[in-house]
Parts: sequence; structure tokens; C-alpha cells
Amino acid sequence: MSGTAHAKHFAPPEAAATGPRNLAGLGRAELEAEVRGLGEPAFRARQLWHWIYHQGARDFETMTTLSKGFRARLAEAYVLERPRAVSALLSTDGTRKWLLRLADGQEVETVYIPEDDRGTLCVSAQVGCTLTCRFCHTGTQALVRNLSAGEIVGQILTALDDIGDWPRTREGRRVTNLVMMGMGEPLYNFDNVAAAIRIVLDDEGLALSRRKITLSTAGVVPLIERCGAELGVGLAVSLHAVRDSLRDELVPLNRKYPIAELLAACRAYPGAHNARRITFEYVMLDGVNDSEADARELARLLGDLPAKVNLIPFNPWPGAPYRCSSRRAIARFAKILNDAGLSAPVRVSRGQDIMAACGQLKSASQRPRKSEREAAGT
Ligand code: SAH
Repeated sequence: MSGTAHAKHFAPPEAAATGPRNLAGLGRAELEAEVRGLGEPAFRARQLWHWIYHQGARDFETMTTLSKGFRARLAEAYVLERPRAVSALLSTDGTRKWLLRLADGQEVETVYIPEDDRGTLCVSAQVGCTLTCRFCHTGTQALVRNLSAGEIVGQILTALDDIGDWPRTREGRRVTNLVMMGMGEPLYNFDNVAAAIRIVLDDEGLALSRRKITLSTAGVVPLIERCGAELGVGLAVSLHAVRDSLRDELVPLNRKYPIAELLAACRAYPGAHNARRITFEYVMLDGVNDSEADARELARLLGDLPAKVNLIPFNPWPGAPYRCSSRRAIARFAKILNDAGLSAPVRVSRGQDIMAACGQLKSASQRPRKSEREAAGT
């Protein structure tokens, strides 16, 4: 399905026609339209923006730069809501994972990964995923819909509330990076993801820079160019195999956009140069894609690209049909890439004890599929 057809088919629910409208998650133009609707000048929208996205206000009453009368009118007509955290888990390594409930009862997961020099939020683009990559837990979830821009931004607001990372001053803030690497395929929800990223980039609000944002795709080739040209964020590509026959099986989207086409799109990615290399994610599956020949072929394929490789030890989930490669195999694979001049760090798996690692996200409320129930002995 093309990106556009996908967007229509899996559209998020329309905002409720009755009841107070939620201002948290709106873009600049939408916020201005609401303010103008109240008969206020446009600069009020800028003040509101600051309160919502720089201060993290959840209550109009706290917006002390606005007149009491305006605050009261806002409180009558609007709310400042985020997705509600139905569970919040803290890993022994400091990683946090929230299961968030959206207005229509659907759920998504969001993850926070603190490191010494940065803090990264991993945000979802869809409820579930249509791609059915064989090694990914999210792909086993039956129900799929796109998230609205507000729901994507809402994940960030909830996380910042919980971490206590307001206001968004540059000094000392904890969340510095954003990765669109949670549930779903972000390029199959391009318009909403793009609108959300524009909100996130805004200097007077959440203020994350392009260089600190990475979008990960399984390879929706026709939209890769737009991602670079319109958003200018970093690109990560879930490659995982060096031959079409194997990639067809692991990442079924490959049947539509095979490796050669995908790499051609990467070669043409706007802004891809050595300072901002494209990341190729490669999940290490025991006996499947981890041979020395695979590593050499990977180095050859990426030879003429501004690339780095992220080797991801496979994260298991109940009923998964794969095992993680041995440490030896991963080290050998990495060495072949390094010897060929490619940077290939092995991603340290974070938050495994709370099922927050890559490919483990799934709405817990979803009924497990049969193989999982059997594996769990229920
Ligand atoms: N749909 C997007 C983003 C979501 S997945 C994409 O495919 O890139 C984020 C990363 O985790 C992808 O590289 C994905 O292939 C990887 N991943 C999925 N399941 C995994 C697992 N069980 N173990 C390790 N990595 C996994």
C-alpha cells in the first residue's frame, strides 16, 4: 500500500465534535486559529505556545502572563490533556517505559533511555504495525491505526511530565534526543509524523534540534526523499539482511522495495554526508543473517554510502521464532565491518527486564497470539 493510501485507511479518529478541545498537541497554525476564534490577537497564541511547550503547563490557571479573563475563557472552551499513563515501568538500568492510553482506548508505548551525556525518548508512530517483520513483537499485534500528530507529541509531553523535565531550557534538561523508533512505521504515517516533528523542532517550545532527531524506517522508499528534504532529520534504516531472498522473509516490505532500490534512495538522501551518516540497523539472528559472508557483503553494499551500522542483539519475546547470535558471532561480524572502515557499534540492549528494548513493544492489552499463549503455557 502506498503511503497515502495507508494514511487514509488507518487514519486516527477525528477529534470529538463536542466537548472541550485539547490544545496540547496542536501546531502553531492550529493554535493561532483557536485564539483568533476567541477574538484574541495572534501574539496570544505565541504566549500560549510558550506555556504549553516550553513550560509544560497543564492548567490554564498557571499561565500568569495571560489576563485572568482570557485564562477563564480558555478553561471554559479547552483542556490541556496528554495520553494517560496506564503503567509506568522503571528498568534496573534506568530505562523507563510507559503504556499510554489514547482517547479512543487504544494504547501505545513510549520509552525513555537515559545515558551519561544524553537522554533519548523513543516514540511510537502507530498503534501496532502493518509490516509484520518476523523478528518484531509489535508486528504480531492485530490492531493498527495511525497516531495523530497530537498523539505523537502527547507521548513526549507525558514523558516530560513524568521525568520532571520542564521547562525546556537547554541547560540541564534530561531529554535531549528523539527517535521515531517505537511502535509502527513512521513513513506510513508521514503527514502526522511530520507535523509532530515540526512542533518538536520549534525553538520556543520543545526545542530539539534536527541533529538530535532520528527517524527509523523499514524502507518505505518513495517517502525517504521527503523525509530528508522536508524534515531534515537523521535517517535510520532497518536493513537486517544483505540478500533479497532473506530480507523478503524478515522484512516483507522488501518484496515491494528491494535492497537495491532502498540503497539508491539512501544514496540520494538529502543531507546525507559524513557528518550525518545514515544508520543501518542490523538485528543479529543466530544462524540466519550473522555469517562472515553476510558481514563482508554488508560492507560491500554500504561501501559507497555515508553509513554506519548499528548491530542490535536480537531481543527475545514470547514465541519468537529466532534466537540472538552468540557474542562471538556478533564480535566477529563487527570486526569485519570495522576492518572495512565502517563504524559498527553493538547496541547495548536497554530496558530488557521491562520489555522496553527494540522490537519488544506491544500494547499489553492486546490478546497474545496463539504461539505466544502456547509458549507461556496458558
Ligand atoms: N518501523 C520502523 C521503526 C520501529 S522498529 C523500522 O522498522 O525501522 C525499531 C528497530 O528495532 C528496527 O530496526 C527494528 O527492526 C528493530 N527490531 C524489531 N524487533 C526487534 C527485536 N526483537 N530485537 C531487536 N531489534 C528489533
